[in-house]
Amino acid sequence: MSVSGLPPYDPQNIFARILRGEIPCKAVLDTEHALAFHDISPLTPTHILVIPKGEWVSAADFHAGAEPAAIAGFWRAVARIGQPLEAGGYRILSNMGPDAGQEVPHFHVHVFGGQPLGPMLKRG
Ligand code: AMP
Repeated sequence: MSVSGLPPYDPQNIFARILRGEIPCKAVLDTEHALAFHDISPLTPTHILVIPKGEWVSAADFHAGAEPAAIAGFWRAVARIGQPLEAGGYRILSNMGPDAGQEVPHFHVHVFGGQPLGPMLKRG
């Protein structure tokens, strides 16, 4: 069980396999602590995923268990991806668990940009 009550980390999840180089990705940034790559099914002109390199299911897991340097390195990578989009504006989003529709059980942040993004969520 992860600290948040989600199932334990599955080392066969698709992002774990990308990190191990078993399946390809279109990488845009690869640092000691994070990998950023294009989403395979982009929802906006820019749709990039940023993942930490450790085995974390959720934000709770990651922030409870990862070394401070890994946490800082991850968020610096997110900021580096967002920086070129900042003038036009962009959004970061992370899905955790079933109500959020998390498909891949490896903590990740989506970076959306390149067009007006509309309201944060639809009401109801
Ligand atoms: P989430 O619903 O937050 O777990 O989002 C998972 C995201 O991973 C979705 O936007 C998928 O399109 C994306 N995705 C799934 N498989 C791949 C892959 N092999 N390469 C890049 N993105 C992927």
